[in-house]
Amino acid sequence: MEIKSITSPASFKLSAPLKESPLTEATAINSEICAAGEPWMGRVAKGQTFRIVDLEGNQAVDTLFFNANNLEERYSPAHTVQKSGQLYLGLGSKLYSSNAQVMATISADTCGRHDTLGGACASESNTVRYAMEKRPMHSCRDNFMTALTTFPLAEEIGLDVRDIGANINFFMNVPVLPDGELYFADGISGAGKYVEIVAEMDLIVLISNCPQLNNPCNGYNPTPIKLLTWEATNHA
Ligand SMILES: [Zn+2]
Repeated sequence: MEIKSITSPASFKLSAPLKESPLTEATAINSEICAAGEPWMGRVAKGQTFRIVDLEGNQAVDTLFFNANNLEERYSPAHTVQKSGQLYLGLGSKLYSSNAQVMATISADTCGRHDTLGGACASESNTVRYAMEKRPMHSCRDNFMTALTTFPLAEEIGLDVRDIGANINFFMNVPVLPDGELYFADGISGAGKYVEIVAEMDLIVLISNCPQLNNPCNGYNPTPIKLLTWEATNHA
């Protein structure tokens, strides 16, 4: 798509309130760093809380969710946007599945807006949006494919590259312009900001910590993220 320049960033003001989590890292049952530009895959059980921390700021985190007990059921931006009546994700957003079931709820958020319209970057989209020589650059789609063909968990449960669907871009600001076009705006996230979801079903989470170098979603500098999980008993 054409990347438009805009003159009124005030129109991109946040659409959801911010809320800090009562959970502390000391009580997390799992804490991992996902390095800049790398994929990650794991389980989050029903009732558990999962936090993604934008450690250095301005990072995009492309994320897919699957029902761990029925892999045919996965995150659906269409259901999520239609049922919420909102184009952007934020505090209180419910993430719906392809079967119109609630998969997770955003329970805390210190960023304010997350994208679910822009999709994951790919070598093809890099070529179309930027230049032919961008084709071999690493992309989120390549990350998803790498994870689904090399991670033991993917083989164990039977997910493969055919299961890549539409995603959420956590921390990414992709406003819809008045004429309906998407605009990749400068990041609204910052160092240490985070988003937290409560799983409403047993989930498989597949992340590409976006390696994109061509647009401002990463500040042209991919950085690591932290992933934390808490048991259900730790939240009210
Ligand atoms: Zn990406």
